[in-house]
Amino acid sequence: MKISEHFEQAKGKTLFSFEIVPPQKGQNIQHLYDNIDPLMEFKPPFIDVTTSREEHIFIQRKDGLLERKITRMRPGTVGICASIMHKYGVDTVPHILCGGFSKEETEYVLVDCHYLGIENVMALRGDAMKHEAYFVPTDNGNNYAVDLVKQIDDLNRGKYLHEIVDASHQTNFCIGVAGYPEKHFESPSMESDLRRLKEKVDAGADYVVTQMFFDNKKYFRFVEKAREMGITVPIIPGIKPIAIQKHMNVLPQIFRVELPDDLVKEVDKCNSNKEVRQVGIEWAIQQSKELVEAGVPVVHFYSMGKSDNIKAIASEVF
Ligand code: FAD
Repeated sequence: MKISEHFEQAKGKTLFSFEIVPPQKGQNIQHLYDNIDPLMEFKPPFIDVTTSREEHIFIQRKDGLLERKITRMRPGTVGICASIMHKYGVDTVPHILCGGFSKEETEYVLVDCHYLGIENVMALRGDAMKHEAYFVPTDNGNNYAVDLVKQIDDLNRGKYLHEIVDASHQTNFCIGVAGYPEKHFESPSMESDLRRLKEKVDAGADYVVTQMFFDNKKYFRFVEKAREMGITVPIIPGIKPIAIQKHMNVLPQIFRVELPDDLVKEVDKCNSNKEVRQVGIEWAIQQSKELVEAGVPVVHFYSMGKSDNIKAIASEVF
C-alpha cells in the first residue's frame, strides 16, 4: 500500500515508523530481524531501508601492495525491502540515490521494485563519497533529487528511458523526499532550500521526511515556512535518540544539526553510555509526545541498527 494511503487510513492518528540500515557486506541479516522484531508490536505501516554510497577501500594484494577498489559496503536495499514485506507483511520504502547510479541503473532498480510489489520509494541525491570534497554527479546519472523524482514520475506515467512505453509495465510509486528543518548544509539559505524542496514536490513528490532534529521548534517553524511557500504534502518528522556520548560530536558533524544546550548539559552529567542512552530516550519521548499532540502524520525513527531505545520510546508514546 502507498504511504499516502496509510495516511488516509490513519484518519489523523499519528503512526509509528522507522528506518533501518542494511548490514555490512558479508554480515548475517538475522541481526537486522532481531532488531525489527521488538518494534513490530507498534504496528509500523512502513519501514525505510537506506542505500549506502559506494566508497574507496584498500585491499592488500599478494605482493603486499595496497590496491584501491570502489565498493558499496552495505548492499542489498531492495532485497531487504522485499524480504521484510514477505516476513512481516509491512510496506517498505527503499531509498534510491542519484549518486553512484546512472539513470539506466536507477531504472533497473525501480523495475525490480515494481515487480516485487514495492509501491513506495524515497528519492535522494546522496552525499559526496568520503574522498570527495563535494557531490559529483555520476556519469549519466541524476544531478539532484528533483531530477530523480522526475525520472520516477515519468516511469509512473509509463515513460521509460529511451521512450519505450508499455502501459502494462507502468509503475505507480508513491515518492518521498528529504527536507531539512535546519537547512541542507550546502544551501545558501533556508528560503533557497525550501524553494528546492518545493521543486521536488512540484515534480511529483508525495511526502517529505525530515532530517533528524532535536528541538521541535525547528520542525514547527520549518513546516510553517513550507506551508507559506505552498508545500502542502505531509511533512514527517525524523527523530534520532542520542545513544552514545560520541553522538554529541558525530551527529552535528555528519548531519549538520544543532544539539540544544539543555540536552548537551544532561549528557555531560552522564558517567557511562548507559546513562547517555537513557537521556537520549527521555529526550526523544518528550519530542515525540509533543509531535503526536501537534498531530503529525508519523513519527519516524532513525534506528541505526539497534532497537531497544526505539522500543522504550514507542512504549511511552504509541
Ligand atoms: P537535493 O534535494 O538534491 O538537495 C541537495 C542540495 O542541493 C541542497 O542544498 C539543495 O538546496 C540543493 N539543490 C537542490 N536542487 C538544486 C538545483 N536544481 N540547483 C541547485 N541546487 C539545488 N543518504 C544516503 O546516502 N542514503 C540514504 O539512504 C539516505 N537517506 C536519507 C533519508 C532522509 C530522511 C534524509 C533527510 C537524508 C537521507 N540521506 C541519505 C542523506 C541525503 O542523501 C543527503 O542529505 C544529501 O546531501 C542531500 O540529499 P537530498 O535528496 O536532500 O538532495
